[in-house]
Amino acid sequence: MATKRTEYTDNQNSILYGETSGCCPLCAQPILFRKKGSKSLTKGYEIAHIYPLNPTPTQSKALVGSPPPPEINALENVIALCPTCHTKFDKDFKVEEMDRLRKIKDGFLAEARARATAAQYTIQEEVYTILDNIVALEGDVPEIPPARFDISTVDNKLRTGMSPLQKHEIRLNAVIFYVRIRDHIRVLEENDQLAIRIMQNQINTYYLEMQKQHPDNKDAVFNFVAQWISSRTGRSLLAAKVLTSFFVQNCEVFDVGAE
Ligand SMILES: [Zn+2]
Repeated sequence: MATKRTEYTDNQNSILYGETSGCCPLCAQPILFRKKGSKSLTKGYEIAHIYPLNPTPTQSKALVGSPPPPEINALENVIALCPTCHTKFDKDFKVEEMDRLRKIKDGFLAEARARATAAQYTIQEEVYTILDNIVALEGDVPEIPPARFDISTVDNKLRTGMSPLQKHEIRLNAVIFYVRIRDHIRVLEENDQLAIRIMQNQINTYYLEMQKQHPDNKDAVFNFVAQWISSRTGRSLLAAKVLTSFFVQNCEVFDVGAE
């Protein structure tokens, strides 16, 4: 017997639209737009089932070995697509395409979870001045002399679970900014040692929370920590990434590659 399609509510539509950031995740076309000469917005998306709602015989054949999700109509199994991509996805159904869409959706769900978590965790005001300090730093200051900085710490910590590009970014940030951030934090510590310790604990706690949510994805852990710092402080994501790199180098808990 065919499974009935759910009518999604306005709020559910808002979630499905919002997670795409307004563009079809497959072709990047805007999915809510104003037609020329029109005052109102046109809805340019349809809600597509990732795992088919009622697989056709051909789809069923392709789906052998792919178990259905616990709830076929759940928000976790649907995604907003433009009508063209939706039709193509259903008509030329391929398991690889379904897996690709699944991966995109899992990314959306992870982002939403991280945003909800970010709202729960506060951050010390000291971080604001550290980030402002990072933004103000001149890029032409010479790198730290190797004798004063042990890059192998970063390499050891990032041994596993992180992409080479992400490692490269962290290593570069650590080499260029480590000593200057450390010195700035020392000055702040002289003022209020406890505040700095609280700040470090907050960042460590958030790091652990992200590690719990993404045990196998160190790139995601790093980026979600940086996004949290940026969104809580209203400071640039670039500066937040530099600061997160500092903590990777500096903190015991940022044991990124531990086995
Ligand atoms: Zn599309």
